[in-house]
Amino acid sequence: MSKPVATKVNVTIVGNGFASLFFLMYLLDRRLFPMPAARRRRPRSGMDITLIGPGDFTYFPAIPEFLTGKRTRPDITVDIKPFLRRRGIRFIEDRVVAVQDGGRTVRTATGAAFHNDMLFLGTGPTFRKDDIAGTREFTYSPCYGPEDMERFKGRVDGLSSGIIYIGFKINKEDGFVAGRTGPMYECACLLDFALRKRGVRDDFEIHFFSADRAAGEKGVLTDRLAERGIIMDDGYGPTAFVDGGMIDPDGGFRRADAILYSPPMTGPVYARASTLPVTKGGHIAVDRYGQVPGFAKVFAAGDCAGHEAPPPWVPHQAHMAQLRAQAAAANVRAILQGSSPSHRYRHELSCILDMENDGLWMHRSEDGAPPFWNLFPRRSRQLVRVKSVFEKVFLFYLRRL
Ligand SMILES: Cc1cc2nc3c(=O)[nH]c(=O)nc-3n(C[C@H](O)[C@H](O)[C@H](O)COP(=O)(O)OP(=O)(O)OC[C@H]3O[C@@H](n4cnc5c(N)ncnc54)[C@H](O)[C@@H]3O)c2cc1C
Repeated sequence: MSKPVATKVNVTIVGNGFASLFFLMYLLDRRLFPMPAARRRRPRSGMDITLIGPGDFTYFPAIPEFLTGKRTRPDITVDIKPFLRRRGIRFIEDRVVAVQDGGRTVRTATGAAFHNDMLFLGTGPTFRKDDIAGTREFTYSPCYGPEDMERFKGRVDGLSSGIIYIGFKINKEDGFVAGRTGPMYECACLLDFALRKRGVRDDFEIHFFSADRAAGEKGVLTDRLAERGIIMDDGYGPTAFVDGGMIDPDGGFRRADAILYSPPMTGPVYARASTLPVTKGGHIAVDRYGQVPGFAKVFAAGDCAGHEAPPPWVPHQAHMAQLRAQAAAANVRAILQGSSPSHRYRHELSCILDMENDGLWMHRSEDGAPPFWNLFPRRSRQLVRVKSVFEKVFLFYLRRL
């Protein structure tokens, strides 16, 4: 009598950013740095894994460094296909447009349909570019990827003097920080550094604006901007971006030669087009285990997903995407072993603000635990190097292991 053939569980992963790749790593390797034993385990994982996405990974945290010329697009872009091939994962270059059948089918832009037994959604943020008129036409953003940041740098490099505005807006509807705040502070400091290096800083005004900041707000970040002579336009939000500037709420015109802006963030369009539960702020709803409520064996993590009862300070970050993906992977393994999901993720804000000539470790966690057992100082120029080591290690992992 022939042995019954064990059927593999079909796991589909959508997106190839931080959330999806961390999910994959924790699902297959459990630890970030695979030991030889982990490599041998991969083909025997009992899973048939398909990843649907664009194929190029972008290391977003290094995009602000374009301003000082320390990083360029090839430095931070990785073709993810060899990484997937080494793990025996099927790659589909496509875009998901709908999730159907309670999560068991995903449809793509090319009209294909993929069935799964287990689904992970890690498709990143959507930016509300229509929130303020003229955002698409008259602003640049590091949040849209390397090309847009290259265009902003090209614009600034072409100016010998001028007024530059840098700002952000947050989507507060879900009770957490759905907006890019830290990277915009980083961009303001790095722009200041780059202009000083060029010897033209005195010929430029740099303004930092956000309607989400209270007028006169003080703090460790504000101090770093103030000591660089950056003008704080606290509480300011334009009603429109226009050619050569912005329109104030009272109808006045403000001149700006270049505007770097991060619009509020929300969840994916396909979530609304599908029957997935969506939060008030437009994110895919998930519980503390990373599961989408009412959708068996469907998980979501990273910037596309909301939080269950978040603290108001929790941001969308690569670091949060990692913690959430780790919990989701552990819960998927639990389900495959016949148990119930029991792994919750922690809420934690942790990032290094790179100012090139100074560094700040911004950190807050729900249990008060410090980063890396307090091994690193909270403020030091050496943190710039530490941030760069994290980047190099992660990109080495993707390119070589
Ligand atoms: C300038 C900048 C600086 C930052 N600095 C830091 C930092 O210092 N520290 C930190 O922790 N975080 C930082 N972040 C935030 C961090 O980059 C994000 O939180 C992180 O990228 C979120 O990971 P994600 O996987 O959810 O989304 P992403 O990394 O954006 O990945 C989403 C992936 O899904 C793909 N995708 C989208 N839609 C679909 C679809 N429909 N079908 C298939 N694929 C799809 C995308 O193309 C992409 O590959 C920074 C962000 C920016 C923009």
